[in-house]
This record gives sequence, structure tokens and C-alpha cells, in this order.
Amino acid sequence: MTGRHEDFNTLRLDGLTRSFGGHTALHGLDLQIQRGEFIALLGPSGCGKSTALNCIAGLLPLTAGRIMLDDHPVDQLPPEKRGFGMVFQNYALFPHLSVRKNIAFGLQMRKVPRAEIKRRVAEAIELVQLGPHATKLPGQMSGGQQQRVAIARAVVLRPPLVLMDEPLSNLDAKLRLEMRTEIRRLHQSLGLTTIYVTHDQEEALSLADRLVVLRHGEVQQVGTPQELHERPSNAHVADFMGYRNLFDGVVERVEGGEVSVSVLGTTARGVAAGPLGPGDRVQVGIRPEDLTIGDPGAVAALTVDATVDVVEYQGREFAVEAHLRSGEAVHVRTGARPATGEVVRLTAEARRVLVFPPAADTSEPPDRSAETLAAAGVST
Ligand code: ATP
Repeated sequence: MTGRHEDFNTLRLDGLTRSFGGHTALHGLDLQIQRGEFIALLGPSGCGKSTALNCIAGLLPLTAGRIMLDDHPVDQLPPEKRGFGMVFQNYALFPHLSVRKNIAFGLQMRKVPRAEIKRRVAEAIELVQLGPHATKLPGQMSGGQQQRVAIARAVVLRPPLVLMDEPLSNLDAKLRLEMRTEIRRLHQSLGLTTIYVTHDQEEALSLADRLVVLRHGEVQQVGTPQELHERPSNAHVADFMGYRNLFDGVVERVEGGEVSVSVLGTTARGVAAGPLGPGDRVQVGIRPEDLTIGDPGAVAALTVDATVDVVEYQGREFAVEAHLRSGEAVHVRTGARPATGEVVRLTAEARRVLVFPPAADTSEPPDRSAETLAAAGVST
């Protein structure tokens, strides 16, 4: 194939790997992306998100792996031959060119006829709602407006794939929310295939069709926002998805998908997030909003008492930090304000209590010694 790739049905990443010296920043990323999908690469700083994006863009050569657009390998092509659109956190606009000229630049480089450039630039300006600013220089506009120019400049080329690396991270909170909606709206109206890098789980959940959670260069889970939010596959993903309460426990019994766990000096019932057996040391994850203050009666799968330490007002709800008798901190979101120093009863339903096997990369072999089980309150 010569020239740029105008379109494709499937982008396939096969075992994408990139090392820097002895350090593997990205390890065997496999993913199939369908045309029109919005994919978020999500994970903490240093997990390999930007490395993955730069490899796909062609800015970094692969150490191993393949990138296929339908049946065509593109990993050996330079960035301009791949023809992907790129939007980064520093907008990198030409400071001496107006908004209109910044957007037109790529089309001029591609020798698109003048009348078509004029029409497409006008469309792109309309799309990102910058009509009144079309003749301004970048320095005369806000960060959000500049980021819109950067987006318009990428999408005006009608790239088969748009790559975005934390495009909103330099904006203040209000603008970030506005631009998030804007990006989603653009994606819906243009149907562009997009890969979006962020460390912000809320941003990823609200924008993406599917999320890829990375840690230490390895994929932890791929799924829809709902799947990841409700069924994180391990404690790392859970931690990232807002399961702020993660407690150590030991499995007592497994019946179907339901597990009884010895945790926090009591027995709780929860849902197994992986294969588990009696005696397994696990982490029990509960989101702050899934803990209820007050005793709902016999249905609770977990009941513990906690002393309230800090109450933060957060609009419609209160974020409460409390401590358990064992000294561990517990986080709760609640509609009614508890008093500092008050002892409250916390309960959760079984389907909201997730029980995670130990993470593969940090786990020691399961310790099922009598001492461990006894320490966790399990009789042997
Ligand atoms: P952030 O959100 O902080 O940008 P990230 O998830 O995008 O992080 P990467 O920038 O992909 O992470 O980096 C992954 C790992 O590879 C890190 O440990 C980083 O230090 C390392 N790394 C990245 N680029 C280079 C480089 N050019 N030379 C050496 N090591 C690098």
C-alpha cells in the first residue's frame, strides 16, 4: 500500500512491546479496535500509557510486536505515512498563525485544493465552536480554546485514527469538564476511531466505549466502563476504579460465586472476583458509596462499627473517613452528615463486596498455615 491509510475496519495491536535499556515500559499489549470505537488507556503515572500511544503513532519504534490496519502492517511506517491524528497536552500550535491558518496548515502540506481547504477549515471551526475566534492568534485565547484548535487541526485531516495523550490535563477543572463533553460530542458526530490516554478514571469512564487498564506496562483488564466499574478483575483495577476500601481477609467458604471471608474481625459475604478456595488470602474491596451508615437488619453481608474522624461536605453528599476498632481507616459516602467522634454501624450488601485473589505479580504462594488462618479468625 502506498500513501496514507484513509480508513480501516480493524486496528490490531499484537504483542506491542517497548523496552528502554533493560526496562520494559510496555509488555505485550494485545488489543483489537473496531472502526469508530473510543478506547481509553488508563493507569497510574509510569504505567506505559504514553509509550503505547507513541508506539502506535510511530514516534517510538517497537521492540517487539505488530500493528495491523486490517491486513496491512503499519509498524514499520514513519508517523506521516500512518496518517494518524495526534492531540497532546501541550497544544503545539504555531504561535504566529491565526486559528484558521493553524487548522489549514496540514491540508496545505497535503496539497489539498484551495476551495476544499476553505470549506473543510470552516466546517472544523464550526465543529469546535470557534467561529468568533477564527482570526485570533493562539496567544490571544484561553487554554481550552487553544486545545479546541489542536483538536480541529487533527480532525480536519479526517484521520483514520486519532491519538490523544492527556489532552485535558493542562486545563482547569471546569474547562476539563466542558472539553470532555466536547470531545465526546465530536466523537459521536464524526465517528472517529480514537485512542485516548489518561490517568483520570472518571474521564476514561465518561468518554470511552472500552477501557484498557495498564500497570507496570502490562494490561490488567479490558472492558466497558460498566464492566470495569462493577467487576474489576483484581485489586489494582479496583483501587483505580474507586474501591477505596481494600481490606486483607482469608476465605472461609466458597459456594457458587458467593464467598465467606474472615475480614476485619468478622465474617462477611461477598462476590468472588476470580477463582478462590478456602484458606486463600484475599483483598476485600468495597466502594465508599456502597457502605451504608445504620443497621438495615439481617440482610447485610458485612457489618462493622467505626468511629467517625473526618466529614467533608461534597455538594450533595458527605465523604466520611472513619476508623475501625482494628485501627484501619474506612471511607464512606453518605447523604446524612454523621458527627465527628460518633460511632456508626456500617453495612454493605453481598453483591457490593468484591473478593479479589492476590495480584499475580505481588503474591506469595497462598499461605494456608494454621497460624495465618487462626490470625484471621478461621478455625482449622
Ligand atoms: P505518565 O502518566 O506519567 O505520562 P505513562 O503511563 O504515560 O506515565 P510512560 O511515559 O509510558 O508512562 O513511561 C513508562 C515507563 O517507561 C516509565 O517507567 C518511564 O520512566 C519509562 N520511559 C518512558 N520513556 C522513556 C525513555 N525515553 N527512556 C527511558 N525510559 C523511559
